[in-house]
Amino acid sequence: MSYKNFPMVPRVIFGRGSFNQLNEVLAPKRHGINAPFIFLIDDVFKSNAWISSRISLSYDDRIIFVSAKEEPKTSQVDALVEDIILKSKARPSGIIGIGGGTLLDLAKAVSIMITNNGGAENYQGWDLVKNPAIYHVGIPTISGTGSEVSRTTVLTGPNKKLGINSDFTPFDQVILDSELTKDVPKEQWFYTGMDCYIHCIESLTGTYLNTFSETYGNMALDLCKDIFLENNLSDVEAQEKLMMASWHGGMSIVYSQVGIAHAMSYGLSYLLGTKHGIGNCIVFDHLEEFYPEGVKVFKEMKAKHNIALPKGICADLSDKEFNIMIDVALSLEPLWENALGKNWKKNITNQKLKALYQKM
Ligand code: NAD
Ligand code: ZN
Repeated sequence: MSYKNFPMVPRVIFGRGSFNQLNEVLAPKRHGINAPFIFLIDDVFKSNAWISSRISLSYDDRIIFVSAKEEPKTSQVDALVEDIILKSKARPSGIIGIGGGTLLDLAKAVSIMITNNGGAENYQGWDLVKNPAIYHVGIPTISGTGSEVSRTTVLTGPNKKLGINSDFTPFDQVILDSELTKDVPKEQWFYTGMDCYIHCIESLTGTYLNTFSETYGNMALDLCKDIFLENNLSDVEAQEKLMMASWHGGMSIVYSQVGIAHAMSYGLSYLLGTKHGIGNCIVFDHLEEFYPEGVKVFKEMKAKHNIALPKGICADLSDKEFNIMIDVALSLEPLWENALGKNWKKNITNQKLKALYQKM
């Protein structure tokens, strides 16, 4: 048996207001006046200079505002890389992603594709990246996905939704400043927070579980229960705890795997464009057969925060469309194997998945 040798984020700053240290963190990483830093920032911050005014741009440094309305696409990564290369006199000094999972994943993918030939779609899979990425920094502004620690960047390509999983994917530096999350709208807070909760449940009940994943998963799960079920937390405490829950939940799945909610949510996302957080919630709500305790507590959290999930999103789909979703979901074999064990194919049929999707 050979154990996997996973990279971790080598540097992290944690603290309320620590975003102010970004400029001093970046300064020694500059490769000269022709090698700019490129800041990819969620365009939700475009009209409010609270973030951009604290970034000191020098020489050819650029801020590119990117919408997080849709999840990252391989074509979008390719277009960003082309634009950055064309407009830079030299290879950039670094890419800084500021936003949620969407912006963090874009920053990781762009930093990889600046040093690797061809299109991003060629690298969707496991360990296909040949050259190290350029320096990249992740600064989350919403908590839950764990993208700030993970070894993947999830992209939708022409043929599949699959991550670029590689040793070069994790950030070189992360800044965890919970103040950046203070204006996240409540529903989005819940959906992305539940992504973290679902990571914990899928990791902790999976067959890939080991003590490394279990300890991180338990920490994150306890934090989620505190945040989403207790009444005694201040806003600042809740924001800081969710930021660390996201981190630990991400660490838990780095050394294990997610499960059925993620597999089926990828199907919804591929066909219908349903975003990750809400998609996971829609699916997880119907998975009591597989995750009885996890789904029960999820429903309590949902009720406590008055969250009404969309219903009937699969009501008008054709058989062909169901099959597309089912194929995407079933192609994620490690997720099913983690959830149900080596013989998972005996228990999961196309009809079974169709029946589940029809309930959503
Ligand atoms: P997101 O980045 O898509 O953002 C969700 C919404 O919240 C957007 O409208 C965004 O503009 C808004 N927002 C973000 N920060 C805000 C703030 N501070 N104030 C107000 N609004 C704010 O959301 P997400 O759930 O963090 O990320 C989802 C993405 O993460 C998906 O593309 C998914 O595939 C990916 N993901 C990646 C990993 C990984 O390990 N790489 C893991 C899980 C999910
Ligand atoms: Zn997730």
